[in-house]
Amino acid sequence: MPIIDNEIREVIYARDGYRCLRCHREDRLTIDHIIPLSKGGSNSMDNYQTLCSPCNLWKGNMVKSFIGNKHIVPPISAVEEKIMRLQTGTTMRFKKR
Ligand SMILES: [Zn+2]
Repeated sequence: MPIIDNEIREVIYARDGYRCLRCHREDRLTIDHIIPLSKGGSNSMDNYQTLCSPCNLWKGNMVKSFIGNKHIVPPISAVEEKIMRLQTGTTMRFKKR
C-alpha cells in the first residue's frame, strides 16, 4: 500500500471528523481507498475516506464510499476482527493453490 502523506492524512481525518465513517469509532483510524487501487482507483483526495482498521479489513476490495453515510453500524469486536483475519488468510491460501 502506498504511503499517504501525513498532511493529506490529517486533512482527510479532519474532513471525516476524526472517526470511522462506517462505525464511528475514534481509534485505530486508517485511510481507505474508496475505489481500491487494484480496481483502478487513484491516489487522490476524493478517493480517500476514513475507516478504522477492522472496517477497512471488512471492506476489503469492495468499491464502497461511506462519505455521507447515515447507516452507522456497531464497531467490529476484537473477536470478529480475528475471525475476519483468519478467513482472509484462508481465502488467500486457497487462491494460491
Ligand atoms: Zn469502523
